[in-house]
Amino acid sequence: MKLLIVEDEKKSASYLKKGLQEAGFVVDVADNGEDGLDMALRGDYDLALLDIMLPGCDGWHILTELRRRGLDLPVMFLTARDGVEDRVKGLELGADDYLPKPFAFSELVARLRTVLRRGPVRQADVLTIADLEVDGQRRKATRGGQRIDLTQKEFSLLLLLCRRSGEVLTRTYIAEQVWDMNFDSETNVIDVHIRRLRQKVDDPFAPPLIHTVRGVGYVLEQRA
Ligand code: CA
Repeated sequence: MKLLIVEDEKKSASYLKKGLQEAGFVVDVADNGEDGLDMALRGDYDLALLDIMLPGCDGWHILTELRRRGLDLPVMFLTARDGVEDRVKGLELGADDYLPKPFAFSELVARLRTVLRRGPVRQADVLTIADLEVDGQRRKATRGGQRIDLTQKEFSLLLLLCRRSGEVLTRTYIAEQVWDMNFDSETNVIDVHIRRLRQKVDDPFAPPLIHTVRGVGYVLEQRA
């Protein structure tokens, strides 16, 4: 597996390179955004690890350019900026994962393997599952041609479920991606939002698309 690291901090870059090589990956490093984008476009990488704040052009720009050119190279952000807006922005632009610094190296490797195993996320501008259409750019959802009114959180949750359609998402994963928090089993925030989403997306239409997988989480898919 060949990885591209785009990180301008020399110390972090060499620490990452060394650790990932020891974990069995082939690793290239770019220390600025322009070289990073260039290498990502030309190179035959399995995944890119991007810092956000970079000289040249930032990590958002690299990701946007890759997606605009139709490249579905999996992208994971490594960054000190761990605000929920950044995470949501990353998700909308088509990032595969987002790991705030500081992180444990073992966690980075585990998450890299998960992303690599999963393969590319669905990147289309408008995602279609049965008669449900979700436009991540315009933050608009319709079903059977009817506009569905959603809150910001409900939309982010729906977008995540659609991007990973057919894949069972755990509450832990949903909490991290949409709420930027560690999942606390005492909270029912995810179940509450899923219920509201179902009232809007599934109840007025048929067949239901959001399914509960008992003891695991939720999946959005069309079932025969
Ligand atoms: Ca940086």
